[in-house]
Amino acid sequence: KQQQCVALIVGVTGLVGNSLAEMLPLSDTPGGPWKVYGVARRPRPSWNEDHPINYISCDVSNTAEVEAKLSPLRDVTHIFYATWTSRPSEEENCEANGRMLKNVLDAVIPNCPNLKHICLQTGRFHYVASVVDWKINGSHDTPLTEDLPRLKTNNFYYTQEDVLLEEVKRKEGLTWSVHRPGTIFGFSPYSMMNLVGTLCVYAAICKQEGAVLRFPGCKGAWDGYSDCADADLIAEHQIWAALDPCAKNEAFNVSNGDLFKWKHFWRVLADQFGVQCGEYESESESESESQVKLQDLMKDKGPVWDQIVRENGLASTKLEDVGKWWFSDTILWNECRLDSMNKSKEHGFLAFRNSNNCFLSWIHKLKAYKIVP
Ligand code: NAD
Repeated sequence: KQQQCVALIVGVTGLVGNSLAEMLPLSDTPGGPWKVYGVARRPRPSWNEDHPINYISCDVSNTAEVEAKLSPLRDVTHIFYATWTSRPSEEENCEANGRMLKNVLDAVIPNCPNLKHICLQTGRFHYVASVVDWKINGSHDTPLTEDLPRLKTNNFYYTQEDVLLEEVKRKEGLTWSVHRPGTIFGFSPYSMMNLVGTLCVYAAICKQEGAVLRFPGCKGAWDGYSDCADADLIAEHQIWAALDPCAKNEAFNVSNGDLFKWKHFWRVLADQFGVQCGEYESESESESESQVKLQDLMKDKGPVWDQIVRENGLASTKLEDVGKWWFSDTILWNECRLDSMNKSKEHGFLAFRNSNNCFLSWIHKLKAYKIVP
């Protein structure tokens, strides 16, 4: 009898962690049904409870806690690492995120004799000099391909890759893959960067206040081509890399494989929440304060959100958890930097998503789980 695949998902309540937790235990998933351990910092939320997994509440930045909670595991065959932490500077990000990954690998690699593969999820920020301003000098030209050299700047993804490559040397035959999505469309009220969730919360607040759904972004985002990565597709990509010999020891971009424009998706969002659709508002070059930014528009809307939650019988959430305004401002105030999926295709991953359907399906899921009205 073939040995069962056993996953350790780190970040199991995040966008991709939640998709992995849903997919891996199914019998028709490649390698499935998987036994799954899922790690996240907070107690298990109700919207993650349907998945048949072993939930481990553990702060992976705490070395002693990781040692106590993860080193007793003996049967893990594959690690799916999809978490991160944010610090004030990139230097601190490198230190903190490198440490978190190392804590997990130090606890698991020596104790799990059947460990075969580690998937590390990073992102497109690998190719750009700064996550808060993609325009600054030094970023690579598009389309972004996996063979581009590292930029000469601090980047916690580089630190994580270095930690990964060093740690896999500890066990013969242990393989790795790195997954670099752009903006992820998925479901997680606990995510630190959830664009679809954030935009739905913004639209719900506009509806409540009878306001127009203004577009908080630049012309390049409104009119230009954007792409995204469906969280379920990223989960499929990681499962593929975990199992397929053609995908070992490689880094891969991961995106849906099509393009969209925010001016079209803005109508979709407005329709879903029954609000009047705004248009692109011209931006002033000189006065940054005249730019429409969600961080400004949504400041002080906590009480409005509390009222929306109460009136619609929604799951209890706080505005700061579900409205990640800084992230939306980062994405929509920059032109999307497109990547290439050629390498994944050449290595045998041919899956894709229709981004319009993907946008709608995550909005529907947020409504079905009563995160938004
Ligand atoms: P997320 O924010 O959606 O989820 C993070 C998960 O990790 C959650 O389950 C959270 O509870 C858990 N977590 C956070 N800190 C923890 C800790 N100290 N100990 C244990 N668990 C902890 O994650 P994500 O957005 O999928 O991010 C994973 C990686 O993907 C990051 O490197 C991120 O930069 C990258 N990425 C994200 C996006 C996006 O749109 N969200 C886009 C591209 C790349």
